[in-house]
Amino acid sequence: MTHSPVWHPFTQHGLGDPVPLVTRAEGAALYTEDGRRIVDAISSWWVTTHGHCHPRIMAAIADQAQRLDQMIFAGWTHQPAEDVAHELRSILPDALTRVFFSDSGSTAVEVALKMALGYWAHRGEARSRVVVMEHSYHGDTIGAMSVGARGVFNAAYAPMLFDVGRVPFPANDPQPTLDALEAECAAGAAAFIVEPLVLGAGGMLMYPPAVLAKMQAICAAHGTLFIADEVMTGWGRTGTLTACEQAGVVPDIMCLSKGLTGGAIPLAVTMASEPIWDAHYSTDRTRTFYHSSSYTANPLACAAAVANLAIWREEPVRERVAKLAEKQQTHLDALSGHAMVRNARGCGTIAALELGDPAGSYLSELGPRLLRRFREADLLLRPLGNTVYVMPPYCIEDEDLARIWAEIGAAADDLATQ
Ligand SMILES: *Cc1c(COP(=O)(O)O)cnc(C)c1O
Repeated sequence: MTHSPVWHPFTQHGLGDPVPLVTRAEGAALYTEDGRRIVDAISSWWVTTHGHCHPRIMAAIADQAQRLDQMIFAGWTHQPAEDVAHELRSILPDALTRVFFSDSGSTAVEVALKMALGYWAHRGEARSRVVVMEHSYHGDTIGAMSVGARGVFNAAYAPMLFDVGRVPFPANDPQPTLDALEAECAAGAAAFIVEPLVLGAGGMLMYPPAVLAKMQAICAAHGTLFIADEVMTGWGRTGTLTACEQAGVVPDIMCLSKGLTGGAIPLAVTMASEPIWDAHYSTDRTRTFYHSSSYTANPLACAAAVANLAIWREEPVRERVAKLAEKQQTHLDALSGHAMVRNARGCGTIAALELGDPAGSYLSELGPRLLRRFREADLLLRPLGNTVYVMPPYCIEDEDLARIWAEIGAAADDLATQ
């Protein structure tokens, strides 16, 4: 493996950790070339919803591959994209009328920010300040990093990042968050972008739906555009189709990606409300929304998304999500009294806790040690520092889920005896 030319993401090759080679996947499991069966406890970085190689999604891709592989999407269209857009319109709130395609969560966020700034520019109003929440993560491109938390992940690139307003994470008392947001909006903020209910990469930090609803109301009162980054929280992760649904919140702009194709193939959408569209709609070509990437609305990806939407329409996905959420809560409860476990918390299918030393940071030694331990136990679990979280595909079997939690419990036990 040391001779591989591959440079992996978020991987410090200098530490010499092995990079296992995976040859196939099915359901909630990955299989390596040396015959190990790895339980995918984090849905391959939060993307796989119904399970790996889902037959309906694989068949849709294979079928589409016989007919149309890729085509330009500027001024041309194809049926799978039309179908995805119509289905999204029917499954999401009525006010989200327009569907803009791209190919990753980061790009969906860049598009949302450009739409928001374009909205104000084309209306002739000088509003350009973007407000974000402390500890947020919105992706790794320059704009997405700019609206995310600053830290070890992006310190080297700080000179490239633009300035934003920041409101505190609503930990125990949401009032400071609401007050800070009120002040930013009153001062004319263009947009507020937020991860609804769960801040994923920031450490699976959770806040209640009522706070989300209050933040949206503050934005609405001042005309500040409310952008919901549902890239991680969408597609059932938090117990409902979107996290906004639990708060009765309809954003002005919504970003969706990870589970949009069931996690099979890259695709993203930025959903916009009619006023955003109207600000760009004109016979004046300078108001065109100038954003594209070569593979915008790739037909194979759209076919996978159509299959995912059919699964949501025709199968009891919500019931599966509810059952998994219940089991996750049971496992969390069983560990929550452990001396080495803190802040055991759940939201839908997501369960998280902190292990060990309260002073631990992302770069603390515990994280890599846990990563190694879980890998050696044939589990795909990737702690964020000392935050361990479990976010499996909805099809995971009880025994596999129990094995994940048993290993987390054993890690906690070992910490207690050190
Ligand atoms: C993963 C993630 C992104 C970035 O998505 P990519 O497809 O990895 O570019 C953006 N926002 C949130 C909330 C995410 O969890």
